[in-house]
Amino acid sequence: MTGLPILEISGLNKSYGAVRAVDDVSLHVNRGEICGLIGPNGSGKSTFFDCASGLTKPQAGTVKLDGQDITGWSLNRIAREGRMLRSFQKTVVFSALDVEENLVIAGQMFTFPGLWSTFGIGAMARARVEALRERAREFIKIAGLWDVRHQPAGKLSGGQQKLIQFASMLMPEPKLILLDEPMAGINPKLIERVVESIRFANQKFGVSFLVIEHNIDVVTDICERIVVLDQGRKLAEGTPDEIVRNQAVREAYLGG
Ligand code: ADP
Ligand code: MG
Repeated sequence: MTGLPILEISGLNKSYGAVRAVDDVSLHVNRGEICGLIGPNGSGKSTFFDCASGLTKPQAGTVKLDGQDITGWSLNRIAREGRMLRSFQKTVVFSALDVEENLVIAGQMFTFPGLWSTFGIGAMARARVEALRERAREFIKIAGLWDVRHQPAGKLSGGQQKLIQFASMLMPEPKLILLDEPMAGINPKLIERVVESIRFANQKFGVSFLVIEHNIDVVTDICERIVVLDQGRKLAEGTPDEIVRNQAVREAYLGG
């Protein structure tokens, strides 16, 4: 079982009218791996995530998660039963709640039926919230949000909100996270926090990652393996070293 990839996608196809957004792409993520997905704008990366995560139905292809065929499952079912989560390019947080509350609620997403059990009264509820707060504080520290943990999320910068969203995804103990451009539009100091948070979740909690990212320095730094898409097709796949030396990749994406 441990030798099986955590995610295995075969022959994925998705067209929008005449546009072949994803054209017969196969890709796997090994258990415990941080894998990168790169390519020019419009090369089909986000569409690939949409199909893999159950947001959109592909016209062809199969998706296996942790050995189970989940093709056709909804986004919610994949998140809840499959424990595969994805981020979107747009950042969403609970603005009125503070940083710690955002994470505690995220931790309840798939276990108990929501807010009532989180903030209900009684010894069980209190013990449960305390355990979640402890987990939340670990991620808050790594994400560099400790000093602002009691501030409303809506008052923080866009970059800090991205970090809250990322830390929230770690709370319900996912097996695999699909990240769509987690560093886009944030400053270098916060990029470092995102990188550290990804490493921490990977090393300490064994979370696997598939990461779409344009910052090539970050991708080559954190990923063991990189897959390159171009015009909906897989152009190359290999170690960071192999990818930056690959002539076809340089021409299509890295600017010669
Ligand atoms: P990337 O994330 O690599 O920039 P996308 O997956 O967003 O690429 O887009 C791949 C191609 O599919 C583009 O040509 C884009 O215009 C098209 N596309 C993506 N989503 C839709 C949609 N909902 N409707 C129509 N065309 C789409
Ligand atoms: Mg995209």
